[in-house]
Amino acid sequence: MESIRVRFPPSPTGLCHVGTARMAILNYLFARKHGGVIIFRSEDTDKERSTKEFEEDIVEQLHWLGLEWDEFYRDTELIDRHKEALTRLIADDKAYVSEEEGKKEAGTVVRVVRFRNPGREVTFNDVIRGDISFDTTELGDFVIARSIDEPLYNFSVVVNDGTMNITHVIRGEDHISNTPRQILIQEALGYPRPIYAHYPLFLGTDRSKLSKRTGDVAVKSYREQGFLPEALLNYIAILGWTPPSEQEVMGREEMIEEFDLKDLHKSGAVFDIEKLRWYNRHYLQAMPADLFEAEAGKILKESLKGRNIPFDPSIAASLVPVVRERIAVWEDLRIHAQEGEYDFFFADPASEPSRIAQKGVSAEDTVRHLKSVKTLLSEIPADAYSDPEQIKSAVWEYAGAEGRAAVLWPLRYALTGRERSPDPFEVAHIIGKEATLRRVDFALSQLSKVKV
Ligand code: GLU
Repeated sequence: MESIRVRFPPSPTGLCHVGTARMAILNYLFARKHGGVIIFRSEDTDKERSTKEFEEDIVEQLHWLGLEWDEFYRDTELIDRHKEALTRLIADDKAYVSEEEGKKEAGTVVRVVRFRNPGREVTFNDVIRGDISFDTTELGDFVIARSIDEPLYNFSVVVNDGTMNITHVIRGEDHISNTPRQILIQEALGYPRPIYAHYPLFLGTDRSKLSKRTGDVAVKSYREQGFLPEALLNYIAILGWTPPSEQEVMGREEMIEEFDLKDLHKSGAVFDIEKLRWYNRHYLQAMPADLFEAEAGKILKESLKGRNIPFDPSIAASLVPVVRERIAVWEDLRIHAQEGEYDFFFADPASEPSRIAQKGVSAEDTVRHLKSVKTLLSEIPADAYSDPEQIKSAVWEYAGAEGRAAVLWPLRYALTGRERSPDPFEVAHIIGKEATLRRVDFALSQLSKVKV
């Protein structure tokens, strides 16, 4: 087989959205699988809606996802080849200039170029959907350029694909209805027909077209929320594709290995943020501890700074398993940290005297329990605090005999100052012996203020 050449031709008329990313990913996997060439083509012909910033965003987000390409073009910079092809079609009488009333201003005359449509049935084979036939008669002599300098999409895309020797056109099914027009133009210009694969578009959670209305669509916004590129790449690729291994979690190389256009689904799949979070959680769990610690530390530090709580990197390091257990995406940590949920790891809490005792347990009994627990906790050496299990076994028997909640609630509250938090052994382990005993002491001093 001749060497494979594919293209991803986004229109830079908006931020890179998950649909743009999907087009790039599917083309990428296919090309890399077959050692083919990938062409990035910025289809910026719509001068009013295309911007440099959108183009940059698309390039940036696709790079962030780990995609790359071999050639880069901008549609507007290819105008010479479009004009050449247009002139040739006119010279061959396969297209003609037609003087028509301008739509924008009444009374003006424009010179559009119309394709001389042979008006016949066009059938093409689609790798995903099989044979597709269209009767092109009703299209009439359709317009292919607003003027000789302004070719329309259906024309320029054919010239681009033809002159770039594109072998496979892999794109969303919203382009199926353009394909017969493109084939007619392609044949008129004498270009070979590429292989087509039109995949169904992602759906929003209400099964309508995925849009801003049904959820976030911009890749940038997922990135800003702290989704990992591996998770987005994996989820976008697998949604609507079942590889032979039926695996869901796959890295880029595995996906390249297994990719086959014929395994893409025929019906649309719902882009589900909960599923994306599931993937992200998986990749966060798999992240090396030092990288996780660096990012978590940055978020915690930033949040603590706002409340003037000193950041301690060694505490942040011990928090890695706690944080990892609780989040699906970095944004979760940002929110928890902003809500002060990690403050007590870094600074002694201001325990509310009335909340220290477990409901239904007297202050007197609570003082007795905290004093006993304090003795038990001071008897184990400081380095035993490196293991939460050792802390637990120091107080477990006592708590069992006196009532777990009556004993462990005040301990946990003394350490955290919060109604909900990780268990007291985990907290004691992270803050260490000294802070643990100091906080129990403080709770005892607070309890002395409560009337017995
Ligand atoms: N520029 C078109 C789009 O963004 C792509 C057209 C094509 O793949 O032929 O939908």
